[in-house]
Amino acid sequence: MTDIAHTIAPLPSPEILSRIEADADAAVARAFTGLAADYFVQTRNRAGRVSTQHTPAGLAARFDEPLPRDGQSIDTIVSRIRSDILPDCNHLYHPRYVGHQIAGPLPAAVWMESVTAALNQSVAVFEMSPVGTVLEHRVISWMCQLAGFPDGSAGTLTTGGTEATFTALLAARGVAIPDAWMNGIGSDPPVLLCGEHTHYAVTRAGAELGLGMRNVLAIRSRDLKMDPVALREALSELGRAGRRVMAVVATAGSTATGSFDDLDAIASICDQYGVWLHIDAAHGGSALFSEVHREKLRGIQRARSIAWDPHKMMLLPSQAGMILVRDHHDLDSAFSQRAPYLFNQSEGERVWDQGTRSFICSRRADVFKLWVALQRYGTDGLAELYDYFCALTHQMWEAIAERPDFEAMHEPECNILCFRYVGDRARGDEALDMVNRELRERYNLSGEGWITGTNLHGRRVLRVTMMNPRTTSADVSDILDGLAAVGRTL
Ligand SMILES: *Cc1c(COP(=O)(O)O)cnc(C)c1O
Repeated sequence: MTDIAHTIAPLPSPEILSRIEADADAAVARAFTGLAADYFVQTRNRAGRVSTQHTPAGLAARFDEPLPRDGQSIDTIVSRIRSDILPDCNHLYHPRYVGHQIAGPLPAAVWMESVTAALNQSVAVFEMSPVGTVLEHRVISWMCQLAGFPDGSAGTLTTGGTEATFTALLAARGVAIPDAWMNGIGSDPPVLLCGEHTHYAVTRAGAELGLGMRNVLAIRSRDLKMDPVALREALSELGRAGRRVMAVVATAGSTATGSFDDLDAIASICDQYGVWLHIDAAHGGSALFSEVHREKLRGIQRARSIAWDPHKMMLLPSQAGMILVRDHHDLDSAFSQRAPYLFNQSEGERVWDQGTRSFICSRRADVFKLWVALQRYGTDGLAELYDYFCALTHQMWEAIAERPDFEAMHEPECNILCFRYVGDRARGDEALDMVNRELRERYNLSGEGWITGTNLHGRRVLRVTMMNPRTTSADVSDILDGLAAVGRTL
């Protein structure tokens, strides 16, 4: 027998251990949450800039320092967050931030984030997240009921609409090409149909799934929505040509203009041709809460899969997306993966483990903040906010109609509006494209407000998204006045 030399692992130094223990104290927690609470209050007061005036290089210079070898005091770090990080972030909670579709998040959901991180449950499998898994099933089933899906529907939380749509289309690929998981998609890939104004997540998924971009076909729009007549024509033409169609993707709340496709009409056509209908309701799904706006989603229950982002119009901090499927078998078979060290359910048992239905292995329990938001604000509260954002956007559209110096590109269907500055109307379209591009940049740099822009009908336009409960009609007037003031200098 040989002697085995037992090495004794040296303990971490008392310094690092005591630092970790001290940091677990509630006083330290308050130092961090205090930063966020101060941020909420200061933006409520409309104090400070909406966003930074610094260039990327300017900001990079602030952090140009060697990788730290020794730790520092919490006080030093907290004060650095206060001085170096907070002031130059985008202040989404500022009432005049009306830019991208990202929320000034609901505070209760924000506070829950630290609890979620502390618990660090991975919702891949029940054994790693007993309550997280069960809650995810609970919340998903509420959402399926809201969408009008029958018993046997299912879903999972995702990192967002991109992952939700990718997962849905992977499931659709499994149905269109049952042996694709084993053998690949072969030399005659099916076609994916989507709207002209679809999110790039859809077209990109087509490429990622191996169809090739040239097999992702855009159906032309009428009034910024997928034209059902064009869809029917495309399906019958593809049928005549002997081409298989993997799925049709309709959009409920398009990114550029917030337009809702006619889901009922599209569902009828998909039924007739036996095609998988996926609805990208990343933005507009939350209209389901609203008595006033639910009608825009008429027919959503006829989808085979739905993408719906709680981190959009449910005002959750990122990330929080969802995929819902009408029949759980579709999601169960999307990933035909076996991993015996993780998934070990026997046939016929209810599948609690969500990892079999997801792209991701280790996954945050984002369901906790979603559940907290629902408990705290209720669906009526969320509906009230949704209705308010839409009403405020409509009001902006009306204000624009009364002003000679602006022109709206469409009547808003939800909380997104595209418009442009036209000044004294003496300039042509080309010149106005340049003016509007420059206008947005200068206005955002002013720190007064923050808007986005996009291309619509080949023209450069300004774009706003209202999703901050603190934005008022006075802010809307200020934004238009502020933009006009910059516009007059161009
Ligand atoms: C935001 C959005 C997406 C992408 O979702 P992420 O959550 O950003 O991944 C897709 N489609 C639509 C219509 C969206 O509004």
